[in-house]
Amino acid sequence: MAGLSVSASDWKPSAEQEAVWPEVSGNAINGLGEEAFGPPRPVFWRDDGHSIEHTGVLRFFYDRYRDNGNIREARKYRRRAAEFADCPVAPSRASEPADGWSAAVRQAALEAGADDAGICEFRESWTYTDRPRPAGRWVVVMAFAHEYDRLNTAPHEDAYIEVMVQYGRAGIAAKRLANWIRERGSPAEAKTGPMTEDVLMIPAAIEAGLGELGKHGSMIHRRFGSNFRLSMVTTDLPLEPDAPDAFGADLFCQSCQVCTRACPPDAIAREKQTVRGTKKWYVDFDKCLPYFVENETCGICLAVCPWSRPGIADNLVTKMARRLPLAPESP
Ligand code: SF4
Ligand code: SF4
Repeated sequence: MAGLSVSASDWKPSAEQEAVWPEVSGNAINGLGEEAFGPPRPVFWRDDGHSIEHTGVLRFFYDRYRDNGNIREARKYRRRAAEFADCPVAPSRASEPADGWSAAVRQAALEAGADDAGICEFRESWTYTDRPRPAGRWVVVMAFAHEYDRLNTAPHEDAYIEVMVQYGRAGIAAKRLANWIRERGSPAEAKTGPMTEDVLMIPAAIEAGLGELGKHGSMIHRRFGSNFRLSMVTTDLPLEPDAPDAFGADLFCQSCQVCTRACPPDAIAREKQTVRGTKKWYVDFDKCLPYFVENETCGICLAVCPWSRPGIADNLVTKMARRLPLAPESP
């Protein structure tokens, strides 16, 4: 219970939820205020019963709407990826396609169901402290857009169901892409949310060119805004990295307060915070999570973000291009 932050808003969690909160703050586990650079520590979305301090909160979350048939079905849909079989790695590597492995892998990701895909080198520092680094030098990160009208019902259960549907789609696509790579003779490991277990996906997605970090702590993509989920595949297939895509979302967030005003428990910091040695946008875990858990979902900040509204992102990209500093010219 001491781990819960006092919120400036009027919103409060139920006494039943307060009773299952641990003493430790989730912000402390996340490394808020730590100047030293370091890997992430697990704070939530671990259902093994022992590796997180917030197991009681996670159980409360899953038990709370257990009798809701719609939510049960949505969770079952999300878990379909776990039943998708991994194929063996072919004994010899296939010859490289004419346009190179990176173009072929990107195309395979789109054919597997992704709405966008990017590639970067995997960094050790994206692995949780209590898990081994996944095998593979490279990571292919994929984006899956929500139906905006359904996300926009947040925090209604329809938004939760939409998120489960997209996690299900993301999980299956990651499994398909990993199998596509294995069939061509390279090991590959699929990762999907929310129980990603061993790695952070957002830093990889930013480095792979899928967008920028927004003030609401989630990503902003130049076409989907904040209206998408992620999955990814690590592999040793020889790939080339994409460049990060800095199209002005970070700059836009510096003068926008739409999500901070819309967040019921007032969880979104107005200024960037230092988290494990990096200054970045940050959401107060001890304020956001209780609201999310009490309602079984949230995502209000994703839905209200101007970049998420259908038909808006293109105009904002054009507008921000006029405000971004020009890249230095090559000598
Ligand atoms: S998910 Fe909800 S509670 Fe959390 S930061 Fe976004 S709006 Fe606030
Ligand atoms: S609502 Fe505004 S401040 Fe919040 S993430 Fe979107 S653009 Fe940034």
